[in-house]
Amino acid sequence: MKTGLKGSLVLGFFLTGSAVAGSAAEVSPAITIRVSNQAEVDLMTLVQAEKTATGIFKKTGVESRWIEPAAEGSFPLSHIQLKILPSVMSLRSGLPDKFPDNAMGLAPGSGPDRQSAYVFYDSVEAVATKHTADTHANTAQILGHAIAHEIGHLLLNVQTHSAAGIMRGAWNLRDLQNAGYGYLFFTPQQAKAIRDDVGRRVRQSQERRYGPDAPWFFLASGLRDQWFDANDCAAVLIPHPQARERSGLLHLHVANVGFMRQ
Ligand SMILES: [Zn+2]
Repeated sequence: MKTGLKGSLVLGFFLTGSAVAGSAAEVSPAITIRVSNQAEVDLMTLVQAEKTATGIFKKTGVESRWIEPAAEGSFPLSHIQLKILPSVMSLRSGLPDKFPDNAMGLAPGSGPDRQSAYVFYDSVEAVATKHTADTHANTAQILGHAIAHEIGHLLLNVQTHSAAGIMRGAWNLRDLQNAGYGYLFFTPQQAKAIRDDVGRRVRQSQERRYGPDAPWFFLASGLRDQWFDANDCAAVLIPHPQARERSGLLHLHVANVGFMRQ
Protein backbone atom coordinates (compact mmCIF):
# COMPACT_ATOMS: atom_id res chain seq x y z
CA MET A 1 0.00 0.00 0.00
CA LYS A 2 2.84 2.34 0.87
CA THR A 3 4.60 2.01 -2.47
CA GLY A 4 1.37 2.44 -4.40
CA LEU A 5 0.97 5.88 -2.90
CA LYS A 6 4.26 7.37 -4.04
CA GLY A 7 3.94 10.98 -4.96
CA SER A 8 0.63 11.41 -3.26
CA LEU A 9 -0.01 12.85 0.15
CA VAL A 10 0.68 10.11 2.63
CA LEU A 11 -0.06 10.14 6.29
CA GLY A 12 1.69 8.17 8.97
CA PHE A 13 0.31 7.88 12.44
CA PHE A 14 2.55 7.46 15.39
CA LEU A 15 2.69 7.91 19.10
CA THR A 16 5.06 10.46 20.53
CA GLY A 17 6.43 11.08 23.97
CA SER A 18 7.89 8.99 26.70
CA ALA A 19 5.05 6.46 26.58
CA VAL A 20 6.70 4.67 23.68
CA ALA A 21 10.31 5.75 24.16
CA GLY A 22 10.96 5.42 20.47
CA SER A 23 9.79 1.85 20.25
CA ALA A 24 6.97 0.42 18.21
CA ALA A 25 6.22 -2.05 21.01
CA GLU A 26 2.76 -2.10 22.48
CA VAL A 27 2.30 0.64 25.04
CA SER A 28 1.30 -0.48 28.52
CA PRO A 29 -1.81 1.28 29.76
CA ALA A 30 -1.33 3.17 33.01
CA ILE A 31 -3.52 3.38 36.05
CA THR A 32 -3.18 6.27 38.50
CA ILE A 33 -3.65 5.51 42.18
CA ARG A 34 -4.62 8.40 44.38
CA VAL A 35 -3.34 7.48 47.80
CA SER A 36 -4.93 8.85 50.91
CA ASN A 37 -2.74 7.72 53.80
CA GLN A 38 -5.21 8.21 56.63
CA ALA A 39 -3.49 5.54 58.71
CA GLU A 40 -0.32 7.66 58.69
CA VAL A 41 1.76 4.75 57.48
CA ASP A 42 5.39 5.83 57.64
CA LEU A 43 6.74 7.04 54.34
CA MET A 44 9.34 4.33 53.86
CA THR A 45 6.77 1.55 54.34
CA LEU A 46 4.31 3.31 52.05
CA VAL A 47 6.87 3.81 49.28
CA GLN A 48 7.96 0.18 49.54
CA ALA A 49 4.34 -0.98 49.44
CA GLU A 50 3.69 1.12 46.35
CA LYS A 51 6.80 -0.34 44.75
CA THR A 52 5.59 -3.85 45.54
CA ALA A 53 2.16 -3.18 44.04
CA THR A 54 3.77 -1.45 41.03
CA GLY A 55 5.77 -4.64 40.38
CA ILE A 56 2.62 -6.79 40.63
CA PHE A 57 0.75 -4.61 38.14
CA LYS A 58 3.77 -4.37 35.86
CA LYS A 59 3.72 -8.14 35.62
CA THR A 60 0.17 -7.87 34.22
CA GLY A 61 1.36 -5.36 31.61
CA VAL A 62 -0.03 -2.32 33.40
CA GLU A 63 1.97 0.67 34.60
CA SER A 64 0.92 2.40 37.80
CA ARG A 65 1.42 5.94 38.99
CA TRP A 66 0.98 6.87 42.63
CA ILE A 67 -0.07 10.33 43.62
CA GLU A 68 -1.13 12.02 46.80
CA PRO A 69 -3.91 14.35 45.72
CA ALA A 70 -4.09 17.64 47.58
CA ALA A 71 -7.88 17.61 47.59
CA GLU A 72 -10.70 15.25 46.84
CA GLY A 73 -12.79 15.98 43.80
CA SER A 74 -13.75 14.43 40.51
CA PHE A 75 -11.13 12.42 38.69
CA PRO A 76 -10.98 10.33 35.52
CA LEU A 77 -11.95 6.67 35.27
CA SER A 78 -8.29 5.71 34.90
CA HIS A 79 -7.74 6.89 38.48
CA ILE A 80 -8.34 4.73 41.54
CA GLN A 81 -8.87 6.26 44.95
CA LEU A 82 -7.08 4.23 47.58
CA LYS A 83 -7.69 5.00 51.23
CA ILE A 84 -5.39 3.41 53.75
CA LEU A 85 -7.40 3.53 56.95
CA PRO A 86 -6.17 2.75 60.47
CA SER A 87 -8.78 -0.02 60.88
CA VAL A 88 -12.12 -1.36 59.70
CA MET A 89 -13.64 0.76 62.42
CA SER A 90 -12.54 3.92 60.55
CA LEU A 91 -15.09 3.06 57.87
CA ARG A 92 -18.46 3.95 59.31
CA SER A 93 -20.71 3.02 56.43
CA GLY A 94 -20.80 0.82 53.36
CA LEU A 95 -19.61 -2.32 55.09
CA PRO A 96 -21.21 -5.53 53.87
CA ASP A 97 -23.07 -7.66 56.43
CA LYS A 98 -20.83 -9.85 58.56
CA PHE A 99 -17.73 -8.06 57.34
CA PRO A 100 -14.81 -9.68 59.17
CA ASP A 101 -12.93 -7.50 61.66
CA ASN A 102 -9.58 -8.83 60.51
CA ALA A 103 -10.13 -8.11 56.79
CA MET A 104 -7.18 -6.36 55.22
CA GLY A 105 -9.22 -4.39 52.73
CA LEU A 106 -12.44 -3.70 50.90
CA ALA A 107 -13.45 -2.78 47.36
CA PRO A 108 -17.04 -1.67 47.89
CA GLY A 109 -19.95 -1.55 45.46
CA SER A 110 -20.44 -3.32 42.16
CA GLY A 111 -20.13 -2.59 38.48
CA PRO A 112 -17.28 -2.02 36.03
CA ASP A 113 -16.50 1.62 36.82
CA ARG A 114 -15.71 1.37 40.50
CA GLN A 115 -12.84 3.59 41.61
CA SER A 116 -12.58 3.23 45.39
CA ALA A 117 -10.63 0.75 47.44
CA TYR A 118 -9.75 0.60 51.11
CA VAL A 119 -6.96 -1.12 53.00
CA PHE A 120 -7.02 -1.48 56.78
CA TYR A 121 -3.56 -1.00 58.14
CA ASP A 122 -4.02 -2.59 61.56
CA SER A 123 -4.95 -5.91 59.93
CA VAL A 124 -1.99 -5.69 57.55
CA GLU A 125 0.37 -5.00 60.46
CA ALA A 126 -1.17 -7.80 62.52
CA VAL A 127 -0.61 -10.36 59.74
CA ALA A 128 2.93 -9.12 59.17
CA THR A 129 3.84 -9.24 62.86
CA LYS A 130 2.29 -12.64 63.42
CA HIS A 131 3.90 -14.39 60.48
CA THR A 132 7.09 -12.55 59.72
CA ALA A 133 9.34 -15.26 61.19
CA ASP A 134 7.79 -17.92 58.95
CA THR A 135 7.23 -15.92 55.81
CA HIS A 136 9.92 -13.23 55.60
CA ALA A 137 7.18 -10.96 54.27
CA ASN A 138 7.44 -7.55 55.89
CA THR A 139 4.63 -5.07 56.51
CA ALA A 140 5.36 -3.09 53.36
CA GLN A 141 5.22 -6.19 51.18
CA ILE A 142 1.94 -7.36 52.70
CA LEU A 143 0.52 -3.85 52.39
CA GLY A 144 1.55 -3.74 48.73
CA HIS A 145 -0.11 -7.09 48.05
CA ALA A 146 -3.27 -6.09 49.93
CA ILE A 147 -3.45 -2.89 47.84
CA ALA A 148 -2.99 -4.83 44.59
CA HIS A 149 -5.65 -7.36 45.69
CA GLU A 150 -8.27 -4.67 46.44
CA ILE A 151 -7.54 -2.75 43.24
CA GLY A 152 -7.71 -6.14 41.50
CA HIS A 153 -11.36 -6.43 42.58
CA LEU A 154 -12.07 -3.11 40.81
CA LEU A 155 -10.17 -3.82 37.62
CA LEU A 156 -11.44 -7.39 37.33
CA ASN A 157 -14.94 -6.26 38.21
CA VAL A 158 -15.39 -9.17 40.60
CA GLN A 159 -16.36 -9.34 44.21
CA THR A 160 -15.41 -12.98 44.49
CA HIS A 161 -12.05 -14.62 44.95
CA SER A 162 -10.06 -17.08 42.90
CA ALA A 163 -8.51 -20.39 43.87
CA ALA A 164 -4.98 -19.32 42.98
CA GLY A 165 -2.75 -16.29 43.14
CA ILE A 166 -3.12 -12.88 44.71
CA MET A 167 -6.94 -12.91 44.39
CA ARG A 168 -7.31 -15.77 46.85
CA GLY A 169 -9.73 -14.78 49.60
CA ALA A 170 -7.59 -15.77 52.54
CA TRP A 171 -3.84 -15.94 52.32
CA ASN A 172 -2.21 -18.92 53.99
CA LEU A 173 1.41 -19.17 55.04
CA ARG A 174 2.43 -20.31 51.60
CA ASP A 175 0.76 -17.30 49.98
CA LEU A 176 2.50 -15.01 52.45
CA GLN A 177 5.81 -16.70 51.73
CA ASN A 178 5.21 -16.19 48.02
CA ALA A 179 4.38 -12.55 48.77
CA GLY A 180 7.64 -12.21 50.69
CA TYR A 181 9.65 -13.64 47.83
CA GLY A 182 7.70 -11.73 45.18
CA TYR A 183 5.88 -14.71 43.66
CA LEU A 184 2.27 -13.87 44.47
CA PHE A 185 0.69 -12.57 41.28
CA PHE A 186 -2.51 -12.33 39.30
CA THR A 187 -3.17 -15.39 37.12
CA PRO A 188 -2.50 -14.97 33.37
CA GLN A 189 -6.25 -14.75 32.70
CA GLN A 190 -6.65 -12.10 35.39
CA ALA A 191 -3.63 -10.22 34.04
CA LYS A 192 -5.24 -10.01 30.61
CA ALA A 193 -8.56 -8.86 32.07
CA ILE A 194 -6.76 -6.19 34.11
CA ARG A 195 -4.81 -4.98 31.09
CA ASP A 196 -7.99 -4.78 29.03
CA ASP A 197 -9.86 -2.94 31.77
CA VAL A 198 -7.10 -0.39 32.34
CA GLY A 199 -6.99 0.16 28.57
CA ARG A 200 -10.74 0.72 28.56
CA ARG A 201 -10.55 3.12 31.50
CA VAL A 202 -7.77 5.12 29.85
CA ARG A 203 -9.70 5.29 26.56
CA GLN A 204 -12.90 6.37 28.26
CA SER A 205 -11.05 8.97 30.34
CA GLN A 206 -9.52 10.43 27.18
CA GLU A 207 -12.85 10.42 25.37
CA ARG A 208 -14.38 12.39 28.20
CA ARG A 209 -11.40 14.69 28.46
CA TYR A 210 -10.96 15.50 24.78
CA GLY A 211 -14.62 15.51 23.81
CA PRO A 212 -15.10 16.07 20.08
CA ASP A 213 -11.36 15.64 19.39
CA ALA A 214 -11.41 12.12 20.78
CA PRO A 215 -12.15 10.36 17.45
CA TRP A 216 -8.79 11.66 16.19
CA PHE A 217 -7.07 10.18 19.12
CA PHE A 218 -8.55 6.76 18.67
CA LEU A 219 -8.18 6.72 14.92
CA ALA A 220 -4.58 7.76 15.34
CA SER A 221 -3.92 5.22 18.12
CA GLY A 222 -5.41 2.41 16.09
CA LEU A 223 -3.60 3.25 12.89
CA ARG A 224 -0.12 4.06 14.09
CA ASP A 225 2.74 2.68 12.07
CA GLN A 226 0.50 2.21 9.06
CA TRP A 227 0.31 4.32 5.91
CA PHE A 228 -2.83 5.70 4.37
CA ASP A 229 -3.93 7.77 1.45
CA ALA A 230 -4.94 11.24 2.53
CA ASN A 231 -8.39 10.65 1.10
CA ASP A 232 -8.91 7.89 3.62
CA CYS A 233 -8.12 10.28 6.42
CA ALA A 234 -9.69 13.55 5.33
CA ALA A 235 -11.69 13.61 8.53
CA VAL A 236 -8.58 13.93 10.62
CA LEU A 237 -6.93 16.71 8.61
CA ILE A 238 -8.09 19.35 11.02
CA PRO A 239 -5.75 22.14 12.09
CA HIS A 240 -5.03 22.05 15.78
CA PRO A 241 -3.73 24.82 18.05
CA GLN A 242 -0.82 22.65 19.07
CA ALA A 243 0.29 22.00 15.49
CA ARG A 244 3.92 22.83 15.04
CA GLU A 245 6.73 22.49 12.53
CA ARG A 246 9.58 20.20 13.45
CA SER A 247 12.33 18.79 11.25
CA GLY A 248 10.47 19.94 8.17
CA LEU A 249 7.46 17.77 9.02
CA LEU A 250 4.16 19.08 10.17
CA HIS A 251 3.20 17.48 13.47
CA LEU A 252 -0.33 17.85 14.67
CA HIS A 253 -0.55 16.87 18.28
CA VAL A 254 -3.54 15.60 20.14
CA ALA A 255 -2.48 14.56 23.61
CA ASN A 256 0.46 12.24 23.04
CA VAL A 257 -0.61 11.23 19.60
CA GLY A 258 0.31 13.08 16.47
CA PHE A 259 0.23 12.60 12.76
CA MET A 260 2.76 13.53 10.18
CA ARG A 261 2.38 14.87 6.68
CA GLN A 262 5.18 14.30 4.21
ZN1 LIG B 1 -10.80 -9.74 48.23
